[in-house]
Amino acid sequence: MRAVMALSGGMDSTGLLLRLLADGCSVSCISYDYGQKHSLELERAKANIEYLSQNGFEIEHRQVDLSSAMSIFHSALTSSEIEIPEGHYEQEQMKATVVPNRNAIFSSILYGYALSIALREECSVKIALGVHSGDHAIYPDCRPEFYKSLGEAFAEGNWDSEKVSFHLPYIEGDKESILIDALAACDALKLDFDTVFANTNTSYNPDSQGRASGNSGADVERILAFFAIGRADPVEYVKPWPVVLENALKAQLTHQVTRENGTEPPFSGEYDMHFEPGVYRCINCDKTLFISENKYDSGCGWPAFNRESDGAEIKRITDVSHGMKRVEVRCSGCDSHLGHVFDEYKGERYCINSVCLKFEESEDDA
Ligand SMILES: [Zn+2]
Repeated sequence: MRAVMALSGGMDSTGLLLRLLADGCSVSCISYDYGQKHSLELERAKANIEYLSQNGFEIEHRQVDLSSAMSIFHSALTSSEIEIPEGHYEQEQMKATVVPNRNAIFSSILYGYALSIALREECSVKIALGVHSGDHAIYPDCRPEFYKSLGEAFAEGNWDSEKVSFHLPYIEGDKESILIDALAACDALKLDFDTVFANTNTSYNPDSQGRASGNSGADVERILAFFAIGRADPVEYVKPWPVVLENALKAQLTHQVTRENGTEPPFSGEYDMHFEPGVYRCINCDKTLFISENKYDSGCGWPAFNRESDGAEIKRITDVSHGMKRVEVRCSGCDSHLGHVFDEYKGERYCINSVCLKFEESEDDA
C-alpha cells in the first residue's frame, strides 16, 4: 500500500509513520518548514528518517518550505512578538498556538503530492494524518468533520480523485493511545521505542540546547501520555523527569479543579498548612484573591480564609452537586472555580483549593 504523510517531527506523526511501516506501507513524508519557532522538530524528523534508514526502512522524505507564505500569519508559534503560552493544553490561552488554516494548507499540499504519486506510479494513495481527539477542542482543523469536507472539496476539484483518500487512524484516539500503538509498531519492526521518541520534539519553546521546558501545554499533554503508559519520556527536558512529571500532574490538577469544578485531595495542597505573610493570587489570571492575614488552620485539609481580599469581588454561585447545597466561589477575573464558602458559627470560611492559588511573599515585611 502507498501512503503519504506529513512528518512534523512531533510524536503524533512519528507514531503514525511507525504504524504505516508496521502495516507494510511504502511511505513518502513531507516535513513543513513554516517558520515555526520550534524548527528543532525538523531536525528531529531528519534524525528519525536516518535511524529508520539504518534499520532498513527507506522512506522518501522531503522538506517543503512554506516559511515565506506563512510568515504573514498571526500565531504564537511563528510570530516573534507573541509569547508561547504555558499551562494545561485545553486552557483558553492555548488558542494562541493555533496557526490560521494550517492543516488546510498542509493537507492541500499533501493532496497534490498524493495525486502526483498516484498518477506517476499508477496506484491508489492514502493520505495519512496523525490528528487525534486530544486536539479537537483547541484546533478545529483537527476535527473529523473538517477532513470530511476537505476530502469532498478536493475530490470535486481534481481529476482522478478516486485514487486518493484520507486515512486518519487516530481520529478517535489520543496521545496515550498513539504511544501504545507506537510500542506495538516498534516491537513488530524491531525498532527501539526510546530512540525513536528521543528523536522527536513536542515543545513549542525548546531551549538553545534543544531541551523542552516541560511547561508548554503541548509538553504537559505529552508528559501525561508517557506517564499514562508507565514510561519516562526519552526526550531531554531542562529539569529531571520526576520534576517535569510533578509539574505536569499539577497543571492537570489545576485544570481539573479550575475548569471542571474538581477538588484536590484533602491535606495534599501546597498551601494547606502555609502561613507565610503575603498574597494569594488566581493561578490563571493573577487577580489578588486573599491575603495571609485572613488565612487560618481550619483542620479541614484545604486552605481556609475568613474573608476575601478587598477588591477580589469573588463570585458566588449556588451549587447543588453531590447531593449538597453549597455556595461555590469563582474568580471574578477569569471565572476559574476556586472552592466553596461556608457559613459557620464563627463567620464565613472560604474553603479553597491550593492548586487555584499562587502565593506571592510580601516584600515590605521586615
Ligand atoms: Zn482568575
